[in-house]
Amino acid sequence: MIFYRCASCSREYVFRRSKCPKCGSKDFSAVEITSATALDSVHLIATPEPFPDEYDVVLFQTESGSRGFCRATSQIKRGDKLKIRTDEVGILCEHE
Ligand SMILES: [Zn+2]
Repeated sequence: MIFYRCASCSREYVFRRSKCPKCGSKDFSAVEITSATALDSVHLIATPEPFPDEYDVVLFQTESGSRGFCRATSQIKRGDKLKIRTDEVGILCEHE
């Protein structure tokens, strides 16, 4: 998963911005996110194609404090350490 980090204030964003809402800089670098900590999760059922029938969506936080969502392949609890990667349908996380 890629986050976009402002070169001026280091704030990270899930989507690339034309300029940083915090400091106004237009200089960003792409940062690969490969690990995080789980903050919460929700179990989903009857999900649309191409997702599995049931899975957990996990809110995670990176070491730098940025947050994002991932789809879990197993049950994740608050505080669990996660490995983040991207598969053919989105952002996937699993226990480290
Ligand atoms: Zn900034």
